[in-house]
Amino acid sequence: MNPANENNPLASSGKCPICGKPTRPDFKPFCSKRCADVDLNRWLSGTYAIPAVEDDEDRDEDDREG
Ligand SMILES: [Zn+2]
Repeated sequence: MNPANENNPLASSGKCPICGKPTRPDFKPFCSKRCADVDLNRWLSGTYAIPAVEDDEDRDEDDREG
């Protein structure tokens, strides 16, 4: 019995989270540098995409007596 199925879900190697291909040791946990860049860009985009939210609940000075 030889595990010829590369898409074995129980494989410890794992799959590329971007395209689903088998990961490569050189680009873990991705299958290629391209996918690694894609994930990195997503990360940066998400970081820079944080909207500026102003919370009025934090302002107590207006309600202060005295
Ligand atoms: Zn990939």
